[in-house]
Amino acid sequence: MKPAPFSWHGPASVAEAVSLLAEVGHEGKVLAGGQSLVPVLAMRLASPAHLVDINKIADLAYVRTDADGVTVGALARHRDVERDVAAGAAQPLLAQALVNVAHPTIRNRGTTVGSLAHADPSGEMTCVLALTGGSVTAVSVRGERTIPAAEFFLGPLESALAPDELAISAYFPRAAPFSGSAFVELSRRHGDYALCGVGTVVTLDPDGAVVSVRCGYLSVSDTPLVLDLTQAWAAGPEEAAEVARAAVDPADDIHATAGYRRHLAGVLTGRSIERALARART
Ligand SMILES: Cc1cc2nc3c(=O)[nH]c(=O)nc-3n(C[C@H](O)[C@H](O)[C@H](O)COP(=O)(O)OP(=O)(O)OC[C@H]3O[C@@H](n4cnc5c(N)ncnc54)[C@H](O)[C@@H]3O)c2cc1C
Repeated sequence: MKPAPFSWHGPASVAEAVSLLAEVGHEGKVLAGGQSLVPVLAMRLASPAHLVDINKIADLAYVRTDADGVTVGALARHRDVERDVAAGAAQPLLAQALVNVAHPTIRNRGTTVGSLAHADPSGEMTCVLALTGGSVTAVSVRGERTIPAAEFFLGPLESALAPDELAISAYFPRAAPFSGSAFVELSRRHGDYALCGVGTVVTLDPDGAVVSVRCGYLSVSDTPLVLDLTQAWAAGPEEAAEVARAAVDPADDIHATAGYRRHLAGVLTGRSIERALARART
């Protein structure tokens, strides 16, 4: 199928983009890497009359790391984030998760902020934003606002962004001292969306005792699910797996049954925590 006809706009600045978005309102869509939107248009699951293509706004193509964390501009491609050494040192979960996102060709074009705006509960970066307690900053003609991860994902493919808002950046806090992280997932073929994925952050005290175990889940709930498994892990790996299995709410689809995904949530919880714990201790 071919997309329905649309008008293309190529603003050269954020101000121009938000003014266009205000003008076209519900009839418009932002085009970033196009790796999710173009298939949606081609299948006519959406038929916006206007596409506001942000690829000419060079100011949005950055990955910046400071003492607090990593800020990713709306035109930073997944691959830019994955390969950024300073970002990887500040928040290792970014690269740990990104290597699981599709294939390098798709990561060369798809943007991390676009992935968050798409709000797919099977997306690795939605899980990382939720697990790290990050945020998304958006701009419209009404001004700028920063939306915490806990308020950003409203449902499958539904974010808190208004139709006239442009997400300009995402912020991922720096990993805490004495912490370690890991990201594990299972998919039918390498590069496919995960049947289930688990990201983990383990934090130790200076003596090496575990003080916090938090896991984020993808593909097993409508919005990214984050669990505090500190108590459960202290009771043993099987207890942590049981808490995870009870908390997830997967659906049956052509790729896997809900029961299998639930089983995976338990198994991958253990693997992810073990790996994060080993990293925290090195
Ligand atoms: C074969 C294939 C496999 C894939 N596998 C995975 C996978 O395993 N894991 C995964 O996470 N992703 C996967 N993806 C999706 C990929 O990560 C996309 O790049 C990403 O989801 C969307 O980013 P994009 O820049 O391409 O956004 P687009 O496709 O351009 O946009 C996606 C949506 O977000 C909106 N949007 C984009 N940017 C903004 C912005 N700055 N402000 C407001 N709204 C915005 C658009 O209007 C649109 O609704 C896959 C894609 C393909 C084609």
